[in-house]
Amino acid sequence: METAEIRRRWLTFFEARGHTVVPSAPLIYDDPNLLFVNAGMVPFKPYFLGQQAPQWDRATSVQKCVRTGDIEEVGKTSRHGTFFQMNGNFSFGDYFKEGAITLAWELVTTPQDQGGYGLDPEKIWPTVYEGDDEAHDIWKRVIGIPDQRITRRGKLDNYWHMGVPGPGGPCSEIYLDRGPEYGREGGPAVDEDRYLEFWNLVFMQYELSAVRAKDDFDIAGDLPKKNIDTGMGLERMATLLQGVDNLYEIDEVYPVLDLAAELTGKKYGAHSGHEAAHSHPDDVRLRVVADHVRSSLMLIGDGVTPGNEGRGYVLRRMLRRAVRSMRLLGFDEPSLPLLLPVSLERMKQSYPELETGFDRISQIAYAEEEAFRRTLASGTTILDTAVSRTKQQGGRVLAGEQAFALHDTYGFPIDLTLEMASEQGLEVDREGFTRLMQEQRDRAKADARSKKHAHANTEVWRDLRAVGATDWRAYSELSTQGRVVGLVLDGERVEELEPGQRGQVVLDRTPFYAESGGQVADEGVITADGAHLKVVDVQRPVKGLVAHTVEVLTGPVRTGQEILAEVDPQWRVSACQAHSGTHVVHAALRQVLGPSALQSGSYNKPGYLRLDFAWNQALSRETRSEIEEVANLAVRQDLTVSAQFMTLPEARDFGALALFGETYDEQVRVIEIGGPWSRELCGGTHVQHSSQIGALSVTGESSVGSGVRRLEAFVGMEALRFLAKERALVAELTEIVNVQPGELKERVAALVTRVRDAEREISTMRREQVQAQTGQLVEYVRDVNGVRVLTHDAGEGASPDDLRTMALDLRGRLGDGSPAVIALAGVAKGRPGVVVATNAPARERGIKAGALVRTAAQVLGGGGGGKDDLAQGGGTDAARTGDALGQVDVAIREAAAG
Ligand code: ATP
Ligand code: MG
Repeated sequence: METAEIRRRWLTFFEARGHTVVPSAPLIYDDPNLLFVNAGMVPFKPYFLGQQAPQWDRATSVQKCVRTGDIEEVGKTSRHGTFFQMNGNFSFGDYFKEGAITLAWELVTTPQDQGGYGLDPEKIWPTVYEGDDEAHDIWKRVIGIPDQRITRRGKLDNYWHMGVPGPGGPCSEIYLDRGPEYGREGGPAVDEDRYLEFWNLVFMQYELSAVRAKDDFDIAGDLPKKNIDTGMGLERMATLLQGVDNLYEIDEVYPVLDLAAELTGKKYGAHSGHEAAHSHPDDVRLRVVADHVRSSLMLIGDGVTPGNEGRGYVLRRMLRRAVRSMRLLGFDEPSLPLLLPVSLERMKQSYPELETGFDRISQIAYAEEEAFRRTLASGTTILDTAVSRTKQQGGRVLAGEQAFALHDTYGFPIDLTLEMASEQGLEVDREGFTRLMQEQRDRAKADARSKKHAHANTEVWRDLRAVGATDWRAYSELSTQGRVVGLVLDGERVEELEPGQRGQVVLDRTPFYAESGGQVADEGVITADGAHLKVVDVQRPVKGLVAHTVEVLTGPVRTGQEILAEVDPQWRVSACQAHSGTHVVHAALRQVLGPSALQSGSYNKPGYLRLDFAWNQALSRETRSEIEEVANLAVRQDLTVSAQFMTLPEARDFGALALFGETYDEQVRVIEIGGPWSRELCGGTHVQHSSQIGALSVTGESSVGSGVRRLEAFVGMEALRFLAKERALVAELTEIVNVQPGELKERVAALVTRVRDAEREISTMRREQVQAQTGQLVEYVRDVNGVRVLTHDAGEGASPDDLRTMALDLRGRLGDGSPAVIALAGVAKGRPGVVVATNAPARERGIKAGALVRTAAQVLGGGGGGKDDLAQGGGTDAARTGDALGQVDVAIREAAAG
């Protein structure tokens, strides 16, 4: 049965049993504790936590998940993908244990021709929490599974909570016995590969008051409403129903593995049996390639771009691991352009948006592979040098500093360093590396901390949020009467803030825009009887709560006090111009470059905006001007800017560019400029008509990482100021070169040519001068013990080239009749140089140019060398050329005497 069919049956089954089908949330979700959605229940968390009332009693979904913790398992077990899909059914205070178990049993054991999955009931092994007699009883008496097939397990395996006080409860997991060829007999507690877990039922039953560890917590009492959360691994069910050994061999994954095997000339499974634990390293690598290519496709599809931190780093690591595995398998060409389309072919059935976005997705992936290939080329050389040096010195461990430098300077991931070093028989000092990494992180953190105020203590914010959400009026008001709900100083609740203190104020209602969606926070003031506060930052530490960071100018301000909150109107006007300007530039960019130039990030503040977008090469000056022109035309056309609220699917149908991280259950806000010309999901503040943006002036374009470019622009008055400054510059230049502005360009070009010609002329003249001088120098030849010696300080401006020409000329003039030595010194660009030449009879007397140059260079604080007949050197001390020649003189005297 195809994976897509398993998914269809799931949704049909639960929909027919009163569940509302809820679409998958994106992998990036609005949850500060999660890198990625890692379970089906994540989007439903607010309901389970009682923060929000669900619209339904029963729901079902097929949720995209990524578990970064499972990266190391990939290919080594049969059942772990980094990306996978979790089918879930959820009950909010509706059915409980018996309902959940009977529903699962029905779906799993109903024959395939009747719409079920048709698993053999005799091979099903449930587990229950050791203390959960109720669940045990249901499996035994209601379902009829014999005692010996029901395993009781402890808290580590069969208890669920969120690691913090809140809901928790026992689980029941469902396993299928795949038979003796997959491992040892004895049930799930003995062998998790033979007995494959495919479904976990969580019974949320208790309120936990303290959680110290996975298996150490206190139960405060029963939850008022008991909930069900289940998760069935779609890929694991596919593994079972397609009769394959592991999840890398199912229809959605295997085609990539197959192609990778063909490209690398490997025969998959040639060395292994059915058990993943005994696989040949090549088979593991092929599975890693297949898994990581698919996960990368899904991650980029949901808006992740490769980077060095957080989500971006996870993606980077997977892309690079895939590429690296292909290399280790013997394939050195770019591999993603071959593999990624194959993954798309399989995944687009369930996720058609991958196909429409594939230009963007593939561009990002291929650019990352290119970047990595360059990194590999340069990093490998450096690593090899470090490895052979370590070996030469008899070491067996590569220094932590080396590994860190490779990581820091060349973007070489540590796992790669470990792998490549071990291929050459070396270990890596991981501790040293980790220490350096930690030091770097601490520095970065200290840096960030000094910039942002501490939001570390989220407990404080959650308590304040529990009082109620902030009535947020940024879209409609600039000035709002309200009341102080809470005050926070250094992360702790306080009753009042005093003059001179800097802390956070939470109000019952506010007109202040909190930093989000790339737009900076509003500035303004909060005033009350006897208190005057300057608002310096506004953030949303938890959903629904606005915290104003203030400096108390006069005070104190107290909890409960009536206040007036006022946004600086000038600031807000400029902020609106900048944010609407960002949308206009984005639309202009896409009009000029095409729809694959999709925004990946943005930032705007009064007067300024920047936009990062997926694109592979620098924009030419013409393209930049064109984008600027299109944007300013849109400003001039006075397009209407409008905001509407709708659901996420409605917004997508409407053609709004989805930014990432929105949740399907909320109303999203779509901003239109000129109707369909620009449609974006956005929570920011905007002007009403595009003409209010004033002007847009693109100031720069640069690269910010592989496949991503950045465009910067000034907006409104700042754009005019920028242009005025450029005009002033032109005016000053015309004054300096004394022409009309229209002739400036030609004049400057002419001047540059003239300067270049003049420089050339000067150097010709100098050469002639040097030659003329040379002739005169012959008169200064002295006799030292029968050796003709000529030393001369040519002074400032004599380059090493000049000196050498002169020395050779002089040697020619002196001839080979008797021994002759010429030593010349000079200074060019502040650096002293020295050249020595000897003729054949001098060399026979044992006078060698190389040795003499070294003597001189030592005085100059440098070094030098050459042959016996001609040598040159230099140093740093330009004041000592005379002394250097003196030393040469002494040395010649000694050599001539000897
Ligand atoms: P395991 O112990 O096998 O790692 P788990 O206990 O971490 O599984 P749960 O957190 O209970 O799994 O997730 C619910 C279901 O999601 C599992 O029963 C399984 O079918 C599926 N699942 C979990 N992790 C993965 C993964 N990395 N790849 C594919 N499916 C997974
Ligand atoms: Mg797991």
